[in-house]
Amino acid sequence: MKHTVFNFGAGPAMLPKEVMERAQAEMLDWNSTGISVMEMSHRSPEFIRIAEQAEADLREIMSIPESYKVLFLSGGASLQFAMVPMNLLGNRKGADYLHTGIWSGKALEEARHFGEMKLVASGKEYNFTSIPDRKKWELDTDAAYVYYTANETIGGLEFHEIPDVGQVPLVTDMTSSILSMPLDVTKFGLIFAGAQKNIGPAGLTVIIVREDLVHTPSANVPTLLAYETHIKSKCMYNTPPTYNWYMSGLVFQWIKDQGGLDAMAERSKSKSGKLYAAIDASEFYNNPISHDHRSRMNVPFTLADENLESSFISEARKAGLTALEGHRSVGGMRASLYNAMPETGVDALVAFMADFEQRYT
Ligand SMILES: *Cc1c(COP(=O)(O)O)cnc(C)c1O
Repeated sequence: MKHTVFNFGAGPAMLPKEVMERAQAEMLDWNSTGISVMEMSHRSPEFIRIAEQAEADLREIMSIPESYKVLFLSGGASLQFAMVPMNLLGNRKGADYLHTGIWSGKALEEARHFGEMKLVASGKEYNFTSIPDRKKWELDTDAAYVYYTANETIGGLEFHEIPDVGQVPLVTDMTSSILSMPLDVTKFGLIFAGAQKNIGPAGLTVIIVREDLVHTPSANVPTLLAYETHIKSKCMYNTPPTYNWYMSGLVFQWIKDQGGLDAMAERSKSKSGKLYAAIDASEFYNNPISHDHRSRMNVPFTLADENLESSFISEARKAGLTALEGHRSVGGMRASLYNAMPETGVDALVAFMADFEQRYT
């Protein structure tokens, strides 16, 4: 039963093989301590070393300035939909939101519990296949922040440039595209990402926040939902997800070894370019997203004949190409091409698609 599988799942997603092998080698006995990282006190010098190294490596690969805090928290990306307004609104009435798909829609809906959130622009009228023209955005200079989703994981829509929103701090959900290209962190007030797509195992969320933007939340905000709590305690107010923190640290080291974010960007472009080229060259496959906004990370596609979808998915699985089902809310297929997906995985998918098309037309 042991054969190579390329896992195209959107998340929890595949992790680099080298990282998994190192974790396996270190699992029972980390650095001759005789115990696993899973069994260590989060306050032990050993774990503090692991945690600090992970942060230092992330700061190095992303060039994160000292004026930004890096938090390793639990709660998933979705908890940030609430924590962002709870901590950044201060005495402002509300914030500006761009609606470009399912994840930004959920973030907006949640944020509305905390203030007057304004819709800057929505891609709804063209079924979220494109990002609304910047000239049509209605930005409010009094907004506490402007929020957007850098990569809509379900729709397969990505911002290829950081939007220019003037002086208002920019907040982004980068769950499915962080670490896939170099980024000018200074353009942002806050960046967050659930780990399970492009960082590490599920259960950890990374937040990068400009410290001066963090407000002391009102007294009715639970202690654990205040960024301030985690900044003051270096994410050790309570027990953090220690093993995931360690695993993410291994991924950061792997990225460094591979040539950093420039290398990740080059690979992402090449992998997604190959797959889109194959889709565009065929009448059999289709991707609906406008070419300027296609995601390098998540490539949704459909078949001209919808009835062939289940055969496509089951035959692909037999060929070792797994988790190609689209999100349950939209159907179709989706291939996620995060950092850990090797180019050979994309080559195998493209070859399978050509073969499938030939057999069914
Ligand atoms: C997966 C995903 C989420 C949700 O992450 P959870 O950790 O499950 O809450 C939010 N935003 C984006 C862009 C995602 O891809």
